[in-house]
Amino acid sequence: MRMNCPICNSVTTWEENPHRPFCSERCRMQDLGNWVTGKYSVEGDEAVSEEAGEDEAEHDE
Ligand SMILES: [Zn+2]
Repeated sequence: MRMNCPICNSVTTWEENPHRPFCSERCRMQDLGNWVTGKYSVEGDEAVSEEAGEDEAEHDE
């Protein structure tokens, strides 16, 4: 079965292709990179925790 690599759009085969659905490991890694970057941008890590337990007993002598 022939198919097109979703990254570089070159024709590759599905069978005996360890990198399918991509044509090569390079394209596979590129897709993975896109996916990771997209995920991070979507997730938006804004863990703002206000710590209100910072007034410990200050003992000035
Ligand atoms: Zn490719």
